Amino acid sequence: MYDAKSLKAEEFINHEEILASLKYADENKDNLELVDQIIEKAKKRKGLTHREASVLLACEDKDRLAKMYDLAEQIKKDFYGNRIVMFAPLYLSNYCVNNCVYCPYHLKNKHIARKKLTQEEVKQEVIALQDMGHKRLAIEAGEDPVNNPIEYILDCIQTIYSIKHKNGAIRRVNVNIAATTVENYKKLHDAGIGTYILFQETYHKESYEKLHPSGPKHNYAYHTEAMDRAMEGGIDDVGLGVLFGLELYRYELAGLLMHAEHLEAVHGVGPHTISVPRIKRADDIDPEVFDNGIDDDTFAKIVALIRISVPYTGMIISTRESQAVREKVIRLGVSQISGASRTSVGGYTEEERPHDTEQFDVSDNRTLDEVLKWLMEMGYIPSFCTACYREGRTGDRFMTLLKSGQIQNCCHPNALMTLKEYLEDYASPETKEIGEKLIREELKTIPKEGVRRKAEEYINNISDGKRDFRF
Ligand code: SAM
Repeated sequence: MYDAKSLKAEEFINHEEILASLKYADENKDNLELVDQIIEKAKKRKGLTHREASVLLACEDKDRLAKMYDLAEQIKKDFYGNRIVMFAPLYLSNYCVNNCVYCPYHLKNKHIARKKLTQEEVKQEVIALQDMGHKRLAIEAGEDPVNNPIEYILDCIQTIYSIKHKNGAIRRVNVNIAATTVENYKKLHDAGIGTYILFQETYHKESYEKLHPSGPKHNYAYHTEAMDRAMEGGIDDVGLGVLFGLELYRYELAGLLMHAEHLEAVHGVGPHTISVPRIKRADDIDPEVFDNGIDDDTFAKIVALIRISVPYTGMIISTRESQAVREKVIRLGVSQISGASRTSVGGYTEEERPHDTEQFDVSDNRTLDEVLKWLMEMGYIPSFCTACYREGRTGDRFMTLLKSGQIQNCCHPNALMTLKEYLEDYASPETKEIGEKLIREELKTIPKEGVRRKAEEYINNISDGKRDFRF
């Protein structure tokens, strides 16, 4: 039985409820009166249910589609302005005891090189990332209790936060590791992590079990209930995601939104972020083998629908996507992107992009400076801001501020100040010129005079060599 408040995976992600929602969507996809009503509801910026979003996803009417895209764009502007937060993944270890059929790190892959960074290697990777200008990382590791126990992950986090190279610093470490116990989530929380990210991969239980034939990840309920344990352990920013291509996308969007509804119902706060990865080619993985791949238009529609269904949830696009696709979807609701990513263990300290320990092929191969320049040329402000969580603005405190619109008074100046740091310390002359002009223009748009004056003062201080200001 479907129950958003239940703590049992099969009750809050309920198969029958998803099937009923998809049937309802099929029956109503041409019911334009209903479609219009749902779009009107979405305009209130309070979100949509999984069933309502499923109707919009099934609807193919061109005019309505245009309305959904316009609304997604508008909601993005209202909640996230023109800021795009930057991050990079850091692969710690590709040892893994699972057998996920889409991932080259699976246990049965005997020819992929296995590597686990030592603390000295973590340090070198972090220095390389700081030298690019990164301030926010997402650490990644395979699941292996012997090679990558929680103590190893905690050591790495401590190392990462401890390194201050030149003006560099990693100010927020997000963590993407396998589902674990409440006790371990408590340890991650105490280590000062930002968001705990765990992709569901697929919400379809039967497919999930086939796609994860052995290892701890095989357990659907344990995996699906991980976010509840994370929240019990004190982590209040959690990141959801589906690996698109594994199952029918319509099933996945309904499941994803049900998961968000569940977190809101039980913990009073929805997911902090949603990621939308698509399967990519990798060592012994051929994405063509999976027959549920989605084309770029469907992908864009999903991004737009997530934006209008959960307006308060950040959305992340990685370098799995090409520059062209990123350009298409960023405006529809993405708030965070990675740049200059290397998806191999120890990849940042290599001159050339290494492929031997890579998790998947990257489609956007540009440098961070190139990505920043491109964003600014499109009118976006690349942001390296990490202020909210450092100021204790997490979970429901963050959501309350976001919902009140007050967050804009911090995010916008914080974005400009962290961009200024980047321009001073890492930018190419061309990027610096574009960035300085953008900052001058954007400062003028800060509505509160006091905040504007303070931001100008901080930016001048950054020119004078000072760092790390925030509202
Ligand atoms: N091992 C951890 C786990 O099981 O959740 C997390 C880290 S894993 C490095 C990060 C994500 O990469 C996975 O959750 C999966 O969705 C994604 N991934 C795996 N293989 C992929 C592929 N071939 N193409 C694109 N993404 C992939």
